[in-house]
Formats: sequence, structure tokens, C-alpha cells
Amino acid sequence: MLRSRDGHVLIDTGYVRHVPLTLALLATPRGIGAEPLARVVNTHCHSDHMGGNAALASRYGCPVVVPVGEAPHIEAWDERALWLDWAGQSADRFTAASVVRPGERHVWGDLEWEAIAAPGHDMGALCFFNAEHRVLISGDALWEHGFGVVMPPEVEPTALAATRSTLDALAHLDVRLVIPGHGEPFRDYAAALERAYRRVEAFETDPMRLARHALKVILTFTLLDRRTMPLADLPAHVERVGMFREFNARYFRLPPAELAAFLVKELTRAGAVRVDAGKLLPAAVAAG
Ligand SMILES: [Zn+2]
Repeated sequence: MLRSRDGHVLIDTGYVRHVPLTLALLATPRGIGAEPLARVVNTHCHSDHMGGNAALASRYGCPVVVPVGEAPHIEAWDERALWLDWAGQSADRFTAASVVRPGERHVWGDLEWEAIAAPGHDMGALCFFNAEHRVLISGDALWEHGFGVVMPPEVEPTALAATRSTLDALAHLDVRLVIPGHGEPFRDYAAALERAYRRVEAFETDPMRLARHALKVILTFTLLDRRTMPLADLPAHVERVGMFREFNARYFRLPPAELAAFLVKELTRAGAVRVDAGKLLPAAVAAG
């Protein structure tokens, strides 16, 4: 939330399922209270960043601004490009009032933010950088430990190379504080970049790792969104949801039940999910 006398600006809006919570938090004194919201701006258009767009635009009558690269997907409501149904995710459809382009500068919350192209995890993503206070709003392009899931080369041919170029571009910025799309704000920019580069390198060495990683991450996000899923439903989920079906046909070639069991085993070992009374639950609750 970027507060300003000239109008408050909210960057990204969380999951559609969390809309009541988002609206409630926004209406507290720590949010904007009873004041109006001037606009919503997205770093990129995935379900956990744009899920509240429609509700907020309707509640506050404010425009939604999306990165120029996302605008065609939003206009067409392209479920695959936006990783919605295709990835087992959901968001309410909204209309973008305008776009923000790489290189543009906008004053939001009394500060000037430069939009920086940050393709990779999402090919249309932007980061926003305030040079005066050296603050970077990084979306999912850079987290303290890694970055948002990147599609393997057979699915998105340039995504991994773009991820590396984005890190190169970000490495040129003099950053004091990063506000990431997930996790707490952090200050050790050099260490985060170093970890991100190491991860890119590992993916470059073994593209299969990208495919495994992508399914595990997307399943974890589905669980974070839904809170729980009967373990017995998972084989049907991986058979029904396009991304799992496509990745299985391309990379794993397993019966759905075996792919489901593999994902559960890997995610349990990584401490990302747990199984309780026949239900699959996310181990961590906060994200998005
Ligand atoms: Zn994302």
C-alpha cells in the first residue's frame, strides 16, 4: 500500500478467496480507513496478485493498471496465459483501465516509481523502483530466497534466459530495501541476487528440475489458496488441470495416481505440505 494525500495506491491484490480479508485490512486505520483508493497497480497478473482486482475496483470505483505485456491476456481473459484454470487457480475477471510500460515513471504514494521490465516468472512482469529511497517492489521477479516459478523451455522457450537477464538488469540498481511479492521486506539485496543466480544456474543445468519444481510450486499455491484438499482428490486434480496433464505427458509419463504420490512425497519431504487425516494441507499458511 502506497499512501498519499493525492490518493492511495495498492500494488497487487492477493487471491480472490482472500478478498474479504483484503477489504477488511484495507478499511482499518493501518490500511486506508474510510479514505478512497485511487488505483490498483499490478506487478504482474497471476491469481495471487490480481485476485482482488475486480472486488477492489468495484468497492472503490478505482482504475486497475496492469503491465503493458499483460493487457492482451487480461482483455482476452486468457486462462492459460494467466495461469488460471490451466494451473488450477482462479480470479474474478476485471477490466484494465490503463497500462504501465517499462521505463515509465509514475508518482504513487508521493514517491516516483520507475517501471522496470522483469520477464521470466511472468513474461510481462514489471518491478517498480524508487531511486530516492532505493526501494524496489519486486513482485515475483526476486524474493529473499529465489523467485517465482519459471516455466521449462518446452513450455515457455525464453523464460529461463529472461529470468537471468532480469537479474542482470536488477543487479545494476542500488537497492536498500526490497518489498517482494511474497515474504517480508528484506535488505540484503546482494545475497538475494546471489541466491537467485545460483537457482537460475541449477535450472539451466537440469531443465527437468524446472518441470518438477513448477508442479510442486503450483500445487502448493493451490493448497495455500484452498487451504485443504482430500488426498484422494489429488489424482483427479493432476489429471484434470491442464498444466499437470501437459507436464505429465511431456516430462513424467506417470499414471495420475503415481504423479500425485510423487508430488506429495516431494512436498512433504521439503516441508511444504503435510498430510493430516487423509487431507493435504499447506505447511505454511501465509503467502500471497
Ligand atoms: Zn506470480
